[in-house]
Amino acid sequence: MADIGAIVREIAEEMAAAPDRGRVADYIAPLAAIDPGKFGIAVIEADGTCHAAGDADEPFSIQSICKVFTLTMALGKVGDALWQRVGREPSGSAFNSIVQLETEAGIPRNPFINAGAIVVSDVLLGGLEPREVLGEFLRFMRSLTGDDTIVMDEIVARAEQATGFRNAALANYMKAFGNLTNPVDRVLGVYIHQCAVAMSCRQLALAGRFLMARGRNPATGGGVVSPGRARRINALMMTCGHYDGSGEFAFRVGLPGKSGVGGGILAVAPGRASICAWAPGLNERGNSQLGSVALERLAQRTGWSVFDPVGG
Ligand code: GLU
Repeated sequence: MADIGAIVREIAEEMAAAPDRGRVADYIAPLAAIDPGKFGIAVIEADGTCHAAGDADEPFSIQSICKVFTLTMALGKVGDALWQRVGREPSGSAFNSIVQLETEAGIPRNPFINAGAIVVSDVLLGGLEPREVLGEFLRFMRSLTGDDTIVMDEIVARAEQATGFRNAALANYMKAFGNLTNPVDRVLGVYIHQCAVAMSCRQLALAGRFLMARGRNPATGGGVVSPGRARRINALMMTCGHYDGSGEFAFRVGLPGKSGVGGGILAVAPGRASICAWAPGLNERGNSQLGSVALERLAQRTGWSVFDPVGG
C-alpha cells in the first residue's frame, strides 16, 4: 500500500524546489501579482483522511475550476435540456477562443471553455437577480466544504470586469445567435464573480468529494448528484477540463481534472480521492505548470488512474 501522506509531502518538497515554474496569468491584474514560488496540494481520501502540504491552506482565485460546480448546479436546474445550448466535445482550442462559435451557430463546444461557462451562467441566472445566483453559488460551495468562510474576491472580479473584452465578445456573439436569454452585462457579472471565488487546495478538495464518491458528500452522506451525473461530470473533466491541453493531461495524469488560470487544478480519482494542486505559474496552454507535474507524479506514485481501476 502506498503511503499517501509521504508521497504528498515528497511532491510538495520537489515542487518547492522546481526551477521551471511557468508564467502567472497577467491579463487579470491581481493574478499577475501572485508569488510564482507558491505550491500547495491537498488529497482527501475516500475515508476522509486529508493529506495536505505546502501552501495547501492559502486561498487563491479558483477561476475556471468554478465551472465544475456551476455546471453541477445548472444540470440540477434544467437537467439534460442544458445540452441543447452547450456541447460535450473537446474544443481543441484555447479557453477563450471565439472561432468555433461562428461555424457552430453560437453553441459552445463544452461547458468548460469560457463560452460554455457563460451559457451556464445564463442558465443559472434564469429570471433571478445576479446577487441571488451568486448567493446560491456561495451557499453551494460552503455546503460542499462545510466551511462558511468562503467568499468572492471583489478585487479580482473588478479587475476582470474592467479588462474582460474577450469574454464580452463571446457573450455578445452568442447573444446574437440567440443563445443567451439574459442581458449580456448581467450574465458576464455572474460569470466573472463565480470565477473570482477564493479557495484553498484543502477547500477545493473538500468541494470535489462528491465526484469521487458517486455523487454523495461522504462527510454528510447527502446526495449532491446521482451516480450517473457524477460519472458524466467526471467524463467532461477528463475530455475538456484542460482546454487544448486536455489530451495531454489525460495521457500524463489519467484522472478527470479541471484547471483555472489562478493556477489551481481539481482532480478526481473515483472511489479513491479528491485532489487539488495549486501553483500559480501556467504553461503555454494556460494550465498550471507545476500543478500538472505534481498530479502526474501523484498518479504515478499512487497508481491511481481511471484507465487502470485496480492500480494503486
Ligand atoms: N475568468 C477567466 C476568464 O474568463 C477564467 C479562465 C480560466 O481560468 O481558464 O478568462
